[in-house]
Amino acid sequence: MDFAFSEEQKIIGASLRDFATQELLPRYSHWDRTGQFPAEIWKKMGAMGLFGMRVPTTYGGQDFDCVTAGLAIEETARGDFNVCYGILNCCFAGDLLSKHAGEAVKATWLPPMVAGEKVICVCLTEPQGGSDAASIRTRAERQGDHYILNGEKSAVTLLMAGHAGIVFAKTDPTAGARGVSAFLVPFDTPGITRHPYSDMGSKGIVRGSMFLNDVRVPVANLIGPENGAFSRVMQTFEYTRGLIGLMCIGAAQVTLEETITYTKNRIAFGQPITKNQGVSFPVAEWHARLTMARWQCFRTLWLRDQGLPHNSEAAICKGFVPEMCVGAIQECMVLHGHYGWTQDLPIEQRLRDVAGQIIADGTPQIQKLIIARELFGREFV
Ligand SMILES: Cc1cc2nc3c(=O)[nH]c(=O)nc-3n(C[C@H](O)[C@H](O)[C@H](O)COP(=O)(O)OP(=O)(O)OC[C@H]3O[C@@H](n4cnc5c(N)ncnc54)[C@H](O)[C@@H]3O)c2cc1C
Repeated sequence: MDFAFSEEQKIIGASLRDFATQELLPRYSHWDRTGQFPAEIWKKMGAMGLFGMRVPTTYGGQDFDCVTAGLAIEETARGDFNVCYGILNCCFAGDLLSKHAGEAVKATWLPPMVAGEKVICVCLTEPQGGSDAASIRTRAERQGDHYILNGEKSAVTLLMAGHAGIVFAKTDPTAGARGVSAFLVPFDTPGITRHPYSDMGSKGIVRGSMFLNDVRVPVANLIGPENGAFSRVMQTFEYTRGLIGLMCIGAAQVTLEETITYTKNRIAFGQPITKNQGVSFPVAEWHARLTMARWQCFRTLWLRDQGLPHNSEAAICKGFVPEMCVGAIQECMVLHGHYGWTQDLPIEQRLRDVAGQIIADGTPQIQKLIIARELFGREFV
C-alpha cells in the first residue's frame, strides 16, 4: 500500500490551495448574495486546466487520473464550494463524452468546455422522480437522420449558464433501464425553454428546469449506442461520487481550521475557550471523521484508476460524507457563537451550499440501497 501523493500531485494541491485562499474565498459570498454566475472565474479555472482533468490531451485536457482530480476538487472547495460543480460536471462530461461520443461531438464540445468557455450540463432528473432514474419519460424518436426529443428535465445544475446538456431520454419506453439513450443537445436548439430555480444554496450556479418540445437532434449527437446510456452513466456516477465526497470535505476541513483559529483566540471565563473539552473534543472528533472520510474517497478514486470495482465504495462516499460534512460545519457554527450565524463569515453559506450535495446525485437512502444490494445480493433487498 502507498498512501503518498506524487510530487506532481503535491505541487498541484499546494498551488490550488493558494488559488482557493487568495482568489476564490474572498468572492465566495459575492456570488451567493448576487446570484450571478462567476463567469470570469470560470474562464480562469479553464485556463488553469481545472476543467480538463478527465479529458484526453487531444481535446485540450490533461488526462489526469481520478486521484489527482479528487485532490484538485478538495483544494478548490476550500475557497468556493460552488465553482467545484464546474469541475464535477466537466469530469462527468469529460469521461462520458471522450469514451462514448462521436468524433464531431468531442471535437466541437470538449475543447471549449475545457477552456471554461462552454458549460455542459447533466440532464437526467425529471419532475416525477430522480431516484428512480430508469423511469424517465422524456422521449426520443428517430426520424431519418435526427431524433425528436420531447419531455421535461428538472434540477439541472448550471442550467441557466449552460450551453448544452447531456440529455437522457427513452428510445424504447418498454425496456426500462435498457431503453435509455443519451444525447448532446445544444441549448440554442429550437424547442428548448429553460426556467431558473430559487434555491437555498449554491445560488450563483443556478439550477433549473428545461422543457423540450419537438427538439431535433442529429443522430451524430447520440452518446454511446441507442438504448445503451443507462449503464454508462451509472458507471460514470460511480467515480464522481468520490469527487463529491472530497468536494464536501474541502469545505468542511477549511471550516474546521477556521474554527481552531477562532476558538484559540476567543476568551471566556478568563481563558481560551479551547481549554474546555466541550470545545476541543468536537473539533477532534470531526477531524477524525473527516480524516477517515477523506481516505475512503481517495481509495474509491484509486480503485477507479486501477480499473477495480468501486460501486459500493462510491456509494459510501456519496451516502455518508456530505451529511457528515454538514454536521461538521454546523458544529463549527455553534463553536463560533453568534458570529457563526452571521453572514460576515462563510460558515452559514457553506452549511447551505454543502447541504445540497446530500440530495444531489442520489440521496443517502439510494446509496444505502446500492451498498445493501452488494452485501445481501440484489434478490434479498
Ligand atoms: C444541489 C442539487 C443539484 C442537482 N443537480 C442535478 C443535475 O445537474 N442533473 C440532474 O439530472 N439532477 C440533478 N439533481 C437532482 C438529484 O439527482 C435528485 O434530486 C435526486 O436524485 C433525488 O431525486 P428526487 O429529487 O426526484 O427525489 P425522489 O426520488 O422523489 O425521492 C424523495 C425521497 O424519497 C426517498 N426515496 C425514493 N426512493 C426510495 C427508495 N427506494 N428507498 C428509500 N428511499 C427512497 C429519497 O431518498 C428521498 O429522500 C440535483 C439535486 C440537487 C439538490
